Amino acid sequence: MEPILANDFKRQWDAIREPALAAADRVGCSGWLILGREVDAFERELADSWDLPHAIGFGNCLDATELALRALDLQPGEPVLTTPLSAFATTLAIVRAGGRPVFCDVDSRGLIDLDRAEACLAKDNAPRFFVPVHLYGFPLDMARLAAIRERSGTRIIEDCAQSIGAVQGGVKAGAAGHIAVTSFYPTKNLGAMGDGGAALTRDSELDAALRSLRDYGQTEKYVHALLGSNSRLDELHAAILRDALLPRLGGFTKHRRAVAAAYRARLANPLIEIPAEPEDAECACHLFPVLAPRERRDEFLAYLRDEKIGAAIHYPMVIPDQPALIDAPAGFEVLDALENARSIADREVSLPIHPFLRDAEVDRVVEVVNAWR
Ligand SMILES: *Cc1c(COP(=O)(O)O)cnc(C)c1O
Repeated sequence: MEPILANDFKRQWDAIREPALAAADRVGCSGWLILGREVDAFERELADSWDLPHAIGFGNCLDATELALRALDLQPGEPVLTTPLSAFATTLAIVRAGGRPVFCDVDSRGLIDLDRAEACLAKDNAPRFFVPVHLYGFPLDMARLAAIRERSGTRIIEDCAQSIGAVQGGVKAGAAGHIAVTSFYPTKNLGAMGDGGAALTRDSELDAALRSLRDYGQTEKYVHALLGSNSRLDELHAAILRDALLPRLGGFTKHRRAVAAAYRARLANPLIEIPAEPEDAECACHLFPVLAPRERRDEFLAYLRDEKIGAAIHYPMVIPDQPALIDAPAGFEVLDALENARSIADREVSLPIHPFLRDAEVDRVVEVVNAWR
């Protein structure tokens, strides 16, 4: 039996080989490798596809998030409200920017609980910064995010690393905050052939600050107005993203949604719970999380792997339990018991979902999951 992979980059290469090779050749022939026409053009096309005026390429989403916090003037030791259930990079960016992560619990599908977030942001001396994550490709309630921004003046950076293309209430994930950040890490919905990331914003001053911060804080050649970083998307990745991947993103997302719909219609095992999609949402279906009984999760995972099904856990530990955080210079704060986040960390298993998954493979995943006792 052929293994069913969590991500299938060989099939992706078969699909994009010609335009990717042509893009690489064009960059080679141009003689220009960093911050040139390809990055400009990709940024333009990404911004257009997201209906936002500015997109800025970065080396990765961790840097984009850190520099977004700095562009919004985060001060050393300032609290930043965020989620305990995400890739560690979300919190690491806050720590690297000098902030103090503040965690509140998530809802039953793993998204930060906006009731709790709102209560925290309405207090006296509330955090001025909020970094929500549209986790698993489930978009948060976009009208509520916009209302939080309006009412409390909170500076919001939406982590869209898992949610490019997600829409809620007719609004794209990333459209409510001051800055949206995303990742082109290969497994992401718009994955490059290496690392990459971007920030998007409506604000032209933030656009200028982000462009400077990714390039040593230069404001003009050899003039450094800011203490910046080096985190640029390079011409080669920009060209491949632009020619081979961005034009296929709509089709990729459509395929992910069809796989998710098939799982939702056909998975039927009383031991396995499937978190519902948010209301009025078109999800990006980055991952397909299911919940196993707490004490049998590892057994379920081992069973899937024995059946050669590429299952994984997102994420096995809540972020405030990560050992590295003990050394966070400004510390961190946990506002409640994180009951839902801990329950998901103990129970979650991600089933294969990607643009190259075949019907027969979906059938097999369904059969194998449904047969588990
Ligand atoms: C992948 C991911 C990141 C980090 O992206 P990189 O480009 O690898 O730095 C941040 N947040 C979330 C939610 C992610 O899934």
